[in-house]
Amino acid sequence: MNNGHTIEIKMLTPLWTGGVDRKCDRLHETGIIGSMRWWYEAIVRGLGGYACDPTSNDRCELSGKEKTDEERRKKLCPACWLFGCGGWKRRFRLDVFSATKEPFSLSSLSYKNQRGQDEFNRWWLKQVFNKNINDNLPIGDVELNIYLTKGSEGDVLGQIKALISAMEQIGVLGAKGQYGFGQFEWAEKQNIQDALRTINDFVKVGGFLTKENDVDWYSLENYWLYELSLPASNPLIKKFENAKLIGSAKKPLIYLPVSFDIRYRLPDNYGLGLRQAYRQNHSKEQTRKVFGTLLGEKQGSRIFVSHLFKRKKEDRNYSLRVWGFTEVTAGDFLGKELERMFALKEIRMKYTGAVLTRDI
Ligand SMILES: [Zn+2]
Repeated sequence: MNNGHTIEIKMLTPLWTGGVDRKCDRLHETGIIGSMRWWYEAIVRGLGGYACDPTSNDRCELSGKEKTDEERRKKLCPACWLFGCGGWKRRFRLDVFSATKEPFSLSSLSYKNQRGQDEFNRWWLKQVFNKNINDNLPIGDVELNIYLTKGSEGDVLGQIKALISAMEQIGVLGAKGQYGFGQFEWAEKQNIQDALRTINDFVKVGGFLTKENDVDWYSLENYWLYELSLPASNPLIKKFENAKLIGSAKKPLIYLPVSFDIRYRLPDNYGLGLRQAYRQNHSKEQTRKVFGTLLGEKQGSRIFVSHLFKRKKEDRNYSLRVWGFTEVTAGDFLGKELERMFALKEIRMKYTGAVLTRDI
């Protein structure tokens, strides 16, 4: 097809696509498009635009009677215009290819108790990921091929590039970001301010539906991010390097899949995990609101923790990203906890949504 554009990225932690076709290198793109839409919504809201909740009854829809793009945009939020909704097709098609895959793996410092049963983290991870134990997940070079729908080429490619640029710097690609997956690098990204400006310019003058966003929806307005650089000599990193794998028997090369231990809880003697520490100082309700609930997955987590990953194989330090969509006080609290966990002096947020959007 002659309207194709390729974005070459590098996955630093595995890409979770929600299903891998084992026979060929083409990946299911649904999980990737889902994550793109999710981040686009959060960004649009943070910039003061409206993005509907596509799972609610109040989501955008077209009747089919609209004759011009102008008429359509009046009934659609920018996310629905770009990603499609009832009566309206997504403005692009995505094919994703990956040459390198590696067996699924997670690891945890938790171990078997005296009765030979798995301790909580290990037990829980096995419950959730049991069906994925034999999966191979894309890592390293991944190609995103984008084919634009006729008639809307100009705006669409600009939005996608700005979106992928932003996701690289403040989020993840694909599903299960809260479990450490989807960290990536894009050499040709725009800096975060430029990317947000591109999205803002489009959203503000696009003539889209305007409504109030629900205060509980994910929005860049409530976003914050820590990005830590942790030497392999760090005492807790040393322990994580020896943590027992769940899934693959082979140790991954460029990352330590320990997101869950950091985000949820550490075994006794290792200090506290983020959720555990938060729970000690907050009510059950507050904790569930921030970390989500594991029961029935009724409430999504607002705290996300990457695996420990290296940007290059030869790097001595691991990177760790922890981000959230909460009030900044919860972010401050968790920053203190990260300092304690890794015995660091003082860490600062790399980005907050408030600062990122201030001058745009
Ligand atoms: Zn919408």
